[in-house]
Amino acid sequence: MPGWLEIGTVPAPFEAMPALSVTEAPAGVGAPPFVARKPVRTFMPAPASDPCRDWGARLPNVKPALCTAARLLPTEGRSNQGRALFMRDVVAPDAQLRVLVVGAIHGDELSSAALALHWIQNAEETPYNAHWRFIPALNPDGLMARPPTRVNAKGVDLNRNFPTPNWARDAKVYWEKRTRKDPRRWPGLKPLSEPESRYLHDEMARFQPDLIVSIHAPYGVLDFDGPGTPPPKLGRLYLDQVGIFPGSLGNYGGVHKGMPVVTIELPNAMRTPLEAEMRQMWLDLLRWMSERIHPAPGGGVR
Ligand SMILES: [Zn+2]
Repeated sequence: MPGWLEIGTVPAPFEAMPALSVTEAPAGVGAPPFVARKPVRTFMPAPASDPCRDWGARLPNVKPALCTAARLLPTEGRSNQGRALFMRDVVAPDAQLRVLVVGAIHGDELSSAALALHWIQNAEETPYNAHWRFIPALNPDGLMARPPTRVNAKGVDLNRNFPTPNWARDAKVYWEKRTRKDPRRWPGLKPLSEPESRYLHDEMARFQPDLIVSIHAPYGVLDFDGPGTPPPKLGRLYLDQVGIFPGSLGNYGGVHKGMPVVTIELPNAMRTPLEAEMRQMWLDLLRWMSERIHPAPGGGVR
């Protein structure tokens, strides 16, 4: 349509894009004759969501500047309710290890997403030869529910929805007998029934992490699944391997796929540890990684 500049396929980053301004054609030689005379009409698709706006009021100890500086990007992944799953990569030039950090698999463990955001800052400030991939909130529907919920919008405990061997038998028996049909621990009708767990499952296959760090609360311990030697402590959290659950990420990644999974249980779901403690946990993680986690043979930077 002559006279209109239509911009209909602008990518939709979550950050506010600068408004496109209408400019008059520069007067003078060479000014194209078809420059818009009418206002430039723009179609700015509504961003998937702005995690810093959505999470800012919800997460403890996350100032807007910290969230903005985390520069989260929407992935292809979507929650049941259509919320984008956000991630951030922090990549060292000489990265040899790939580490996947996942928070808020359980939506009511608010401190877990907050810690992931703080650790993005730590990753940027601490030279280390890793490719970090952070997914601060795998369960944004549960996180944004009022009140927040452990389960996703379909009532599924995502940390029981991974395809561990014998899931069909074990997850059901575990739920019925051990949890007495606790609705907060419903594993779903089948493994990977949920878009959030499918996304993480696919991301593990794509990214092939050498280590997964899964952040939870509020039991105040460390757990470890998989090959190798677990970290004895991170900050004030000490190793206490609590067992193996059918369909959990630790069981699936650590036991079944051979990807070591450190599960952090923060002591409080509503409050983060102090800044110094979060940093100490980070430094302890790096120290343990440097001693114990090595890139998979044939692996490389990706
Ligand atoms: Zn949890």
